[in-house]
Amino acid sequence: MKKIVIVGGGTAGWMSALIMARQWNTQGFQIELLESPEVGIIGVGEGSTPALKVFFDLLGIAEAEWMPECNATYKCGISFENWSTRAGYERYFHPFSAALDRQTLPMFMHNVQTRLRGADLYAHPDRFFIASRIARECLAPVAPENFPFDVHYGYHFDAVLLGQFLRKKAIARGVVHRVCHVVQVQQDDAGNIVAVVSDTGDVHAADFFVDCTGFASLLLQKTLQTPFVSYRNNLLNDAAVAMPSDIGEKIPSETVSTALNNGWAWKIPLTNRYGNGYVYSSQFCSADEAEHELRARLGLLDADIPVRHLKMNIGRVREHWVKNCLAVGLSQGFIEPLEATALFLVQQTIAIFAEDFTRGEFTDRYRTEFNQRINGHFDGVRDYIVTHYKTSSRTDTEYWRANTADQQDVSQTMLELYSSWFAGKDLAAEVQRLNISSYYPAPSWYCILAGMGILPKAEQVRKPTAEEARFDLPAMDNFLRRCTLNFSDHRWYLEKLASNFPVYTE
Ligand SMILES: Cc1cc2nc3c(=O)[nH]c(=O)nc-3n(C[C@H](O)[C@H](O)[C@H](O)COP(=O)(O)OP(=O)(O)OC[C@H]3O[C@@H](n4cnc5c(N)ncnc54)[C@H](O)[C@@H]3O)c2cc1C
Repeated sequence: MKKIVIVGGGTAGWMSALIMARQWNTQGFQIELLESPEVGIIGVGEGSTPALKVFFDLLGIAEAEWMPECNATYKCGISFENWSTRAGYERYFHPFSAALDRQTLPMFMHNVQTRLRGADLYAHPDRFFIASRIARECLAPVAPENFPFDVHYGYHFDAVLLGQFLRKKAIARGVVHRVCHVVQVQQDDAGNIVAVVSDTGDVHAADFFVDCTGFASLLLQKTLQTPFVSYRNNLLNDAAVAMPSDIGEKIPSETVSTALNNGWAWKIPLTNRYGNGYVYSSQFCSADEAEHELRARLGLLDADIPVRHLKMNIGRVREHWVKNCLAVGLSQGFIEPLEATALFLVQQTIAIFAEDFTRGEFTDRYRTEFNQRINGHFDGVRDYIVTHYKTSSRTDTEYWRANTADQQDVSQTMLELYSSWFAGKDLAAEVQRLNISSYYPAPSWYCILAGMGILPKAEQVRKPTAEEARFDLPAMDNFLRRCTLNFSDHRWYLEKLASNFPVYTE
């Protein structure tokens, strides 16, 4: 095993190249990346989970280096607006975790569980997490040295600039970059790929191939004929329209996801603009109608700002590693970007592959196990996304009625989890029992189910006992308020980072 060819120079291709170069360059591997001059990258996908920080830390790339180049901002979590019509629950925040959650999470979980058993206790998630306060106040979630309680965060970034940055880094780290359009894939008698051929006739032979060709999935689906497992019975959205808008003085440190007539809109703050998009179902609304609704919402009906229309193939391949080929990124599957999980899945795929391929001494010994693990990640993320729809109380359009109509396509795991919730069982224990905490941990499940207001209503609850009402929430508010004083204004912090002023992470 000496040479790996990656076909595709989108974010997935360059992330794969960087991780593989880090893992195997010292062992004499050559990594070559081929990128078509004809097919552009998808160019959307501007939000991440905290996993992206792990990626940059692993590669030793400082925030001060990459964030200003990519117009990047910090992200503490996602606000969900208008997903629920239940009074008091029209909005909630899904926070990334923080060290201080150790203090406040037990209070939240206790109050939720106790309310589920009929006691009148406050159970909306937003009050309990420092990340929601930091986001609400447009602060940067970077803790100063003298406040040793980290807040985990993700990022927002310009997808095109991030691609260019990663390309520059990968080339500097020894990845060979070739601009060429692949038109043919050569296989041996056993079906293994031996080479890809460009439109100029150049033959690129390798021992292993990575398919990062986006939705085209040239190697894994088109050549190796790997079946695609569609999620369309669970998730109706299959199209999106995206456009930028101006950003004001304050830079929020959260993504906002607002439910609209036939889907939902994202609002992602960068240092120089907002990225906006409407993810919708083409069964219920045309591209023109979606564009009109998005423009109207942004107050840009007549503005001369171009939009991008995109189609999405929702689901995953049955196997991600087939013969001597691994698919990474949109070529392996895609789940609508409601929780911005695509790059997280890219990272999981490459990291687990690198581990399995190395311990299998560059054979396919762990391929079956690998494919099962990656399928588990995709299906686990899908279940969490599906829960946003199944817990929505909206019935105001055909789209929402179709989404909330019945539970027939919900996975068995979800049916068990939902029924445990309604039975008031210990949900954290159920998440463990169902073995789903590596996809979404228990706090995320508490946040979504309580945040959507799947709780007994005011008229259904009784006065709590003193033992049930044992947590002093005003004291907790005071504690979180004072902790939040340690964090700086988001824009100020980003400007300091860009000017190489020694901010406290450096
Ligand atoms: C509407 C929408 C919103 C999204 N939002 C998010 C988000 O918030 N967070 C997130 O993490 N992800 C998001 N994503 C997903 C994210 O955009 C992708 O996962 C990410 O950009 C990786 O894409 P990719 O590299 O797999 O594919 P692409 O960017 O499509 O790159 C494909 C590459 O393959 C090359 N190629 C294709 N055919 C050939 C050929 N024949 N020969 C040579 N090269 C070829 C192209 O030149 C290109 O370089 C979103 C996606 C969509 C559609």
